Amino acid sequence: MIKYNLTCKCGKTFESWFSSSDGYDTLWKQKLINCIYCNSTSVKKSVMAPNLLNKANVVSKNEKFEKKIKKQLVELRKYLEKNCKNVGDNFSHEVRSIHYDKKTSQGIYGTATPEETSELLEEGIDVATIPWVNETEN
Ligand SMILES: [Zn+2]
Repeated sequence: MIKYNLTCKCGKTFESWFSSSDGYDTLWKQKLINCIYCNSTSVKKSVMAPNLLNKANVVSKNEKFEKKIKKQLVELRKYLEKNCKNVGDNFSHEVRSIHYDKKTSQGIYGTATPEETSELLEEGIDVATIPWVNETEN
């Protein structure tokens, strides 16, 4: 069995089942396919492909979006590496000393556990977590 979307000259679209695409052709040639709305035999099989195309479009849009985000993250990483001091695992200690002692205005980056991060945020210290994207990985 095969399902086709049929379009009538009256502008209505409806679905109908056929034994096969040949079965559809036979019925159509014999004018045995009637519009369920106006009973006209001027019905045409409409192409099913648009549905598939839409799906493909959605996927490629998502991929584009992900690539764009990834590119921005790579750029952010480059920016941080160039302009900020890498303090590595010492991040939560360093960021506190900046916050409380106002030692330096230089930005820092490093690694912190999720617990450390939430502690810092609770203390009112402005930290942001960003995914550390590798440029080479794809
Ligand atoms: Zn019709």
